[in-house]
Amino acid sequence: MQKQRTGDLKLIQELNRSIILDTIRKKGPISRSEIAKKIDLSPTTVTSAVNDLINEQLVYEDGVGSSSGGRKPVLLRFNPSAYSIVVVSISNSYIKIGDMDLEGKINRKEVYPTNQAQGEEIVQFVLMVINQFIDTKIDLERCQGISIITPGIVDSDKGIISYNSKLNLYNIPLKELVEENTNLPAFVDNDVNAFVLAENYFGQFSQYRDLLYITIGEGVGSGIMVNRAIFRGFKGSSGELGHTSIVQGGIRCECGNQGCLENYVNWPSIYSKIVSAIMTKGRTTLIKDIVGNDLSKIKPKVFVEAVNKKDGLAIEILEDVTNHLSVAITNTMHLFNPEVVILSGDIVQDNLHFLDKIRKTVSGSVIPILKQDVNIQSTSLGTEFELLGAAAVLLHGKFQFQIT
Ligand SMILES: [Zn+2]
Repeated sequence: MQKQRTGDLKLIQELNRSIILDTIRKKGPISRSEIAKKIDLSPTTVTSAVNDLINEQLVYEDGVGSSSGGRKPVLLRFNPSAYSIVVVSISNSYIKIGDMDLEGKINRKEVYPTNQAQGEEIVQFVLMVINQFIDTKIDLERCQGISIITPGIVDSDKGIISYNSKLNLYNIPLKELVEENTNLPAFVDNDVNAFVLAENYFGQFSQYRDLLYITIGEGVGSGIMVNRAIFRGFKGSSGELGHTSIVQGGIRCECGNQGCLENYVNWPSIYSKIVSAIMTKGRTTLIKDIVGNDLSKIKPKVFVEAVNKKDGLAIEILEDVTNHLSVAITNTMHLFNPEVVILSGDIVQDNLHFLDKIRKTVSGSVIPILKQDVNIQSTSLGTEFELLGAAAVLLHGKFQFQIT
């Protein structure tokens, strides 16, 4: 019993400490008494935790604040360069690796094409890239660990890639392999789960607790955050929004089912619709002019440009895409009631018409109680979203414990 109580006390101290650190990170410069007021903890608890944080160099004193009488309070700031992390993003076509501070600033970055490597070959390649990168890193003692994100289904507790058909990876104990190779703690998570963590940790959506993140690229993926924790499901496969059935007897999907969302909402299908409209139906479209008749040059950016210039064909295809996606978003909103839905991907980027259309369609189809609160936004992470995602996996766990 006594042991249990000591354990509880230690956990509460750790929770308090991480909430205090998070408050300093977000609200600094801030005084000890302001922290105590803001998060409703006793001044003694705050002072003792702050002492620890100062000893660990995560927090430092910087100047004094104003006072309405009496001594001016000393202000505290977060010190993001106290430690560093190594972040790795594996995608189907390249591996990105970076050295970051605790606030997501990249100190060094390298990108390697995977050259269609798969299976054991890509695992060995990832290990080699990590080893090379940390060999040339100066201060390993300050490194808090290596965080790796990858598409596919990941058992994040054990750090195992359970299933990734495109890279041919099944039950790969990546965490264990990296830790054996480097002697540093390693973390592994699914990429889209990492992106929703990053929107909440680094991005403009830190005030929300329930978020749905949807990414549209070669397929459609989603990350679901419930009460500031990733909703993973029994085997870690939650968020497979791309394989939700939306058309009965529809297009045959690579998963074996028919009519999965991602066959209607992905870049390859948009591209083939554009090409077939031009080649077989002889449609006139701005898209053809933008690429100077070279259809192989049609990329998501070109499509978005044509949408923004109100090209008939581009708008028609966009409406088809947004109609299908809206069905899936409406279903997910009814299931999870998120405070915000965040969309990302090349065809969403700079495409205001896309967001407008989705907002209108979803608002028109959700149950009445949700109509006022349809909040659909585009990603706030910018071009380094992959490395920020990897960073958030490590930092969200380490520095942002939440009382649930
Ligand atoms: Zn499918």
